[in-house]
Amino acid sequence: MFFIGVFGTNFKVEQSGYANAGSCPCCHSDKPLHVARRYNYFHAFFIPLFKFGSHYFATCPNCASVFEAADTLGQRAAKEGIANALPGEIKLLQNNYRRSCPNCGKVLDSDDKFCSSCGTAV
Ligand SMILES: [Zn+2]
Ligand SMILES: [Zn+2]
Repeated sequence: MFFIGVFGTNFKVEQSGYANAGSCPCCHSDKPLHVARRYNYFHAFFIPLFKFGSHYFATCPNCASVFEAADTLGQRAAKEGIANALPGEIKLLQNNYRRSCPNCGKVLDSDDKFCSSCGTAV
C-alpha cells in the first residue's frame, strides 16, 4: 500500500550534452542538437531512491524540433560533452520547423509558393 505524497514516482529532465547530427533534418541548421535525459524516479519522503525508465531525447536549438536519441548516443554525449550521431541514432518525434519568408520574415505554410505578406517567391 502506497501513501500518496510520501512514496511515489516522479520524473526529471537533465541536460546531458550535445550531439552532432551533421545538419538538422528539419531546418538544415548545422548547430549541434541539445541532448537531454528524462528519467523516472521512485521517491520516499521526497528523497529519490532509484531511477528507472530513463531515455534520451534531442532538440534542435534552431527550430526546436524534437528527436528521440538512442541510449548509446545519449551516453556518449553525457561522457564526451559532444558526440557524433551515427545513422539511426536520431529519430524525429516532432518537426517544429516553420519556414519563414526570406524577405520579410513572415512564417509561411509548408506548401506556400509565395509569401502572403510581401509576395516574394519562396
Ligand atoms: Zn532544426
Ligand atoms: Zn514576405
